[in-house]
Amino acid sequence: MAIRIALAGNPNSGKTTLFNSLTGSNQYVGNWPGVTVEKKGGTLKGNKEVEIQDLPGIYSLSPYTLEEVVSRQYLVTDRPDGILNIVDGTNIERNLYLTTQLAELGIPMVVAVNMMDLVRKKGDRIDIGALGKALGCEAVEIAALKGEGNQEAAAKAVAAAKAGKAAPSAVFEEDVETALQKISEQIKGSVPENLSRWYAVKLFERDEKVVADLKLSADRLGAIEREIEAVEKAQDDDSESIITNQRYQFIAKVLAGAVKKAGGKHGLTVSDKVDRIVTNRILGLPIFAVVMFLVYAIAMGGWAISIGTMGTNFANDVIFGEWVPGLFDTILGALGVAEGSVVYGLIQDGIVAGVGAVLGFVPQMLVLFLLLAILEDIGYMSRVAFVMDRIFRQFGLSGKSFIPCLVATGCGIPGIMASRTIENDRDRKLTVMTTTFMPCGAKLPIIGLVAGAIFGESPWVAVSAYFIGIGSVVLSGIILKKFKAFAGEPSPFVMELPAYHVPSVGNVLRATWERGWSFIKRAGSVIVISSVVIWFLSSFGTVDGNFGLVDDLWENVDDAYIESVAQDMDISADEVVAMDDSLLAGVGNVIAPVFRPLGFGKWRATVATITGLVAKEEVVGTFGVLYNYEGEELSENGDEIWDNVRADFPAAVGGFAFMIFNLLCAPCFAAIGAIKREMNNAKWTWAAIGYMTAWAYVLALITYQVVGLILGQVAFGFGTIIGFLLLAGLIYLLVRKGYVPEEGARNLTSVQAAR
Ligand code: GDP
Ligand code: MG
Repeated sequence: MAIRIALAGNPNSGKTTLFNSLTGSNQYVGNWPGVTVEKKGGTLKGNKEVEIQDLPGIYSLSPYTLEEVVSRQYLVTDRPDGILNIVDGTNIERNLYLTTQLAELGIPMVVAVNMMDLVRKKGDRIDIGALGKALGCEAVEIAALKGEGNQEAAAKAVAAAKAGKAAPSAVFEEDVETALQKISEQIKGSVPENLSRWYAVKLFERDEKVVADLKLSADRLGAIEREIEAVEKAQDDDSESIITNQRYQFIAKVLAGAVKKAGGKHGLTVSDKVDRIVTNRILGLPIFAVVMFLVYAIAMGGWAISIGTMGTNFANDVIFGEWVPGLFDTILGALGVAEGSVVYGLIQDGIVAGVGAVLGFVPQMLVLFLLLAILEDIGYMSRVAFVMDRIFRQFGLSGKSFIPCLVATGCGIPGIMASRTIENDRDRKLTVMTTTFMPCGAKLPIIGLVAGAIFGESPWVAVSAYFIGIGSVVLSGIILKKFKAFAGEPSPFVMELPAYHVPSVGNVLRATWERGWSFIKRAGSVIVISSVVIWFLSSFGTVDGNFGLVDDLWENVDDAYIESVAQDMDISADEVVAMDDSLLAGVGNVIAPVFRPLGFGKWRATVATITGLVAKEEVVGTFGVLYNYEGEELSENGDEIWDNVRADFPAAVGGFAFMIFNLLCAPCFAAIGAIKREMNNAKWTWAAIGYMTAWAYVLALITYQVVGLILGQVAFGFGTIIGFLLLAGLIYLLVRKGYVPEEGARNLTSVQAAR
């Protein structure tokens, strides 16, 4: 039988870092709570006998948040053979609160005091031997990030698990300990012997779930209640507070004997000083805006410093514009596949063009993810969540809703899942409905395409995409919170602000690579298949009554026919190409009018928008296939497709509206699946999809009609009136007085940036 060791500790104490180091796996290390919502298992490197479980971070074993439920369930019911309790050494007092609870589980435990590098830097001293003795278990010092002491901690935990003994200290004062003894006697036989202390404490606290689970007789419950009341009377306090207070008293005693803080009251650390500026009430948001501007400018702007854009231009123009098509040309030539044949077209104009267009954006994406990973690992993003909490709270939203948004800048699916940490059901639903407004990795090619082909690589386009995402979350929050279904006080938001630290190269590269790799994998699977389908549908069609390859059939048509196709499409005859007569064009032309008020009602853009539901990067993949034709007046070099794209968006603001709609409308099918799982209800799932799509449509329409009019790119017309009406409606929804819940509703307003 394998030995099972559980890693338990507060959020951000370094559990996942230790887990990755011990198991050699690549779990996501995040600088905010809620990243590890599900438990993850792995085997200890070098000892296949030992199984390690990374549990979600928790502050206590109460069953309030999802993390607590998951961790408590595992520890109490599945019972690992040993617990390795990770304690943040820079925050030891608060962390030991959980330790005292874990000790009651009767499972052999080792306490690993982590972040010793920071502890030493601060000049604090920990007498690890004395600490272990006071806690009644073995204690070790580690610096998980640096790999110091990790193996030793694991070895000690395995040894403790093998020895199988657990001897927790008496934490509470005498009268409580006596009451616990008596309660233990009452439940003897009803609970496993080694869990009796834990159950006794929980009963003493009147933990409803435990009381319900044990189904004790009325007699016994009465006897237990008398014990509790006696202590409550003597201490003049309620039982739960008595337990909490005495835990902290015990911890204070333990620390007095084992920890020496560096010289008296410590002054402001560098970290504190930086925080005073970046979390400043007035400066916090502008600083965040500047930081994100620089990030997007470097990754996706058109400046000399834009490494990402340089890479993407090279990839698009040279690698996927010349080299790869050239290579396939040679290969296909050697195989005897003639240019102009179906196989040649399928491979070159379908797969190579579609997948190439998507992969071309990998450099921009990697640079962006690298920069975001650095900001996150340094600890800056946690500050942003804190700054956003202050803003969100003014509108009755919780900063907790912002953490899923930060996660969603990688991929919307973990973002949607991260909303599980929000206890309040209304706020959780609201977050699930709005999180995917954020520009995830797959949406970056859309942004890069619009910024590059239509806006001359202006960095403003890319940054605006990010802030349109955040803005949509905030505005939607304000609007929806006014409806009865979402009204109410926001969930409280408590988060540790970790000390800033030099980013770990490993963590940063791992985060970047994981996001980049999943993108590349999709390009090799979903995008290949979609490109093939798109190519077939755009290559075959009925021309002048004959079905076949439109390119071939088109060679025999007369001017009158071309003129009629042009008329159907409302364009001039010399703009028409064979593909405009394909099956896909037929379908696209039927749907296109829906998007005409948004300024991109051409069949290619329409089809691309729809294929975006499969995967957002397929919008660009579809462009790669559909704009890969030789227009009459256009250049014929490798990057003509970008010229073709530009020609299809005569009003630049239409291109911008296209980007807005594709960023904000229903997310890809995979994310819709995640929404369905989280909502667990078909009606709410549809409500979420419908809301997002409607929001995207309204915003894109206002952008095209109203902003377009102001910029002089769009003429006044019926659409303008609709645009202004929608704008007025939007403003009304934002400022109207919303539903106010009755008195007596939960009133949790405390925000604490616990340090
Ligand atoms: P978890 O929430 O407990 O899983 O914590 P993580 O493993 O995600 O780590 C939280 C943060 O602490 C990350 O930014 C880590 O890089 C950082 N961290 C973990 N261990 C150490 C350490 O020993 N020293 C320092 N300075 N930072 C650490
Ligand atoms: Mg974790």
